[in-house]
Parts: sequence; structure tokens; C-alpha cells
Amino acid sequence: MASKACKNCKFVIDEGDVCPACGGTELTTNWKGFVVIFDASKSNIAQKMGLSMPGKYALRLSK
Ligand SMILES: [Zn+2]
Repeated sequence: MASKACKNCKFVIDEGDVCPACGGTELTTNWKGFVVIFDASKSNIAQKMGLSMPGKYALRLSK
């Protein structure tokens, strides 16, 4: 089963239908590339993307 990415915050979810980062239920399997955030407070990418929760985030979502 393909992982899904949240359309709201781009969090990548391996299981389930609810985004654990923002609680959103709008998920898509059409996404490309990802970044893994371990410590959002120390990550320039996380700060640039406005992320606060550690995890995997999609870089691009297709519509
Ligand atoms: Zn989300």
C-alpha cells in the first residue's frame, strides 16, 4: 500500500486515514519526494516549511 500525504500540511502517513500532525483527513497518494524532519527546532528546512512535528513530509503534491 502506498503512503499517503496530507493535503493540508504534507505530512506523510504510512497507516490510517487521519493526519497525526494536523488532524486533517484530506490525503493523497499522488506526491513526490520527501524530507524527514527529526528535530523541527533545529532544522532549517522545517522552519522554512513551517513544520513543528518530527516526521516525513512530502515535497510536492500532485492534483
Ligand atoms: Zn496534516
